Parts: sequence; C-alpha cells; structure tokens
Amino acid sequence: MSVADNLRYFENQLQGTRARLVAVTKTHPVERLQEAYDAGARLFGENKVQEMVAKQPELPADIEWHLIGHLQTNKVKYIAPFVHTIQSVDSLKLLQEIEKQAAKHTRVIECLLQFHVAEEETKSGLSLAEAEEMLQSDAYQAMRHVRVTGVMGIATNTTDEAQLRREFAELRGYFELLQTRYFAQQPAFREISMGMSSDYQLALAEGSTLIRVGSAIFGARNYGTVES
Ligand SMILES: *Cc1c(COP(=O)(O)O)cnc(C)c1O
Repeated sequence: MSVADNLRYFENQLQGTRARLVAVTKTHPVERLQEAYDAGARLFGENKVQEMVAKQPELPADIEWHLIGHLQTNKVKYIAPFVHTIQSVDSLKLLQEIEKQAAKHTRVIECLLQFHVAEEETKSGLSLAEAEEMLQSDAYQAMRHVRVTGVMGIATNTTDEAQLRREFAELRGYFELLQTRYFAQQPAFREISMGMSSDYQLALAEGSTLIRVGSAIFGARNYGTVES
C-alpha cells in the first residue's frame, strides 16, 4: 500500500466523526512527507525540534506543524516562527516560554495540555491538579500569544482494550471538566488528541478529535544507530 492509499484509508475511517488526522512523520525523509502532502495531508506531527526545523522549509507553507514530543524550554525559540500547535505542554514554565517566543513573532501558538494517563511512569504529562493550578495562575491569564485548544494523551503500550478505553475515557473526562470550568462558551477549546496506529479506533470511540498516526501510514520507522 502506498502512502496515498493509506491516507485514503484513514480518510474513510474518519468519515462520520469530527476527528482529523495528524500524519506523524518523524524519522521519514521530506520526500515521503511531500508524497503525503500531495495526497492531501495537511497536519504533520514531529516529536523532535531539530527534525521539524530541518523539514519545515523544504515543504509547502500551508502545512500545520504539530510538535508532539517532549519540548525543552530552551528549544521553543526554534519552532516559534512557524509551529501551529504544541501538543506536549506539561508545565507553566514551558507555556510561559511559548508565550514569550510567540510574542516575538506576533503570533498565537495553539497548545494542548498533555495529561499523564498511561500506567508507565516514564510517560510525561500533567495531573488534573497541576493543569488546574496552571489555568488559575495569573501568569496564564495574562497570556495573549498562546491559545489552549484542548488536551493530549498517550495511552499505555498494551493490547488490553479495556485498559486503553479506560485511559482514553479518563482523558476525555479531563477535557470535559476543563471545558466546563475554564473554557465555557469558548469554541476554540475543542481538541482531544488521542489514538495512534495501534489504538486509534478505540480512541475515536471515546471521542478523539485528533488521531496521531505514523507507522500505519508510512510503515515502520528505522531509527538507525543513533537512537537518542
Ligand atoms: C510516534 C508517535 C505517534 C505515532 O505512533 P505510531 O504508532 O507510529 O502511529 C503518536 N503520538 C506520539 C506522541 C508519538 O511520538
């Protein structure tokens, strides 16, 4: 199956839902991204700043770039000129740096709050209490160059469907709670980013609005010998 065939498959899977596809392009060369673009993909997800910065100038300007991996504060400046959404916001400190860098470019950067829903401790993300503390802070309320548009989560790496559904439902619960408490009447707060190649169907069933799919579109990733 070609990249175009795979994208058509996902287009069909998303019919009748309000979800959109983020094509996760990490480790793949720009030729493959161009192929996906030519087949209609517009939302691209990368997990490393350096890789996104290298690819972005080589590709059409109307791509929405989504940063989906852990982001260090000192690297925000490299993506601030063009990144559309930072899906991996996990601290007020990071959000403050995004605000500062976005202001320099007189842009508004959309941000998702990443929640910890997986059982693995290694996966990063906020707790509900931390997210609420952030949204209640004076620093957040003064921000004019970030727009929090929803939540993101990575489920446990398991084939246990009941567990996956529980974790996706937990994330949707956080979304609904924050919507009610902090974003009532604000249609911009709309995204629940959850679901990858192996579990997107369960995520869609639990209300995902952004599925992040890599290997099911581009094939297995080859990280080479310099895995970081
Ligand atoms: C790599 C990655 C994906 C895509 O994973 P696949 O299993 O290849 O679909 C989704 N989300 C995040 C955060 C990722 O790092």
